[in-house]
Amino acid sequence: MASVPRYWRNIPSYYRLVGSKCRGCGRTWFPPRRCCPICYSRDLELIELPTEGVLEEFTIIRTPPSGFDYYTPYVVGIVKLRDGTRVLTQVVDCDVTELKPGTEVVATFRRVREDGDFGIVMYALKFRPKR
Ligand SMILES: [Zn+2]
Repeated sequence: MASVPRYWRNIPSYYRLVGSKCRGCGRTWFPPRRCCPICYSRDLELIELPTEGVLEEFTIIRTPPSGFDYYTPYVVGIVKLRDGTRVLTQVVDCDVTELKPGTEVVATFRRVREDGDFGIVMYALKFRPKR
């Protein structure tokens, strides 16, 4: 379960699709990283990422972890954004039989759950086919 403090720290990136760009090797990451996993540089800057891309590959989840039964079946895939950044994400608002590699998708923010004690609504980045 995501803790509330961690969630709040991540809000800017989840709302604006902010990633990080490594000044060492030029690669971009989402969510933002403090250390580049490729060249190990710690010199990364925050950048705003494009919100459109194409679905590179995906899988359909029919046996979800507990607590996610409501969404079954759902699609998890890798989206390659216009600038080349790859994002592991859920794909929503789609007919799973019509999805294919190369499908154009766009970012959308969806409510994932509400914290019962504090009434905090959590949103997460997902993608949907572009129309
Ligand atoms: Zn790097």
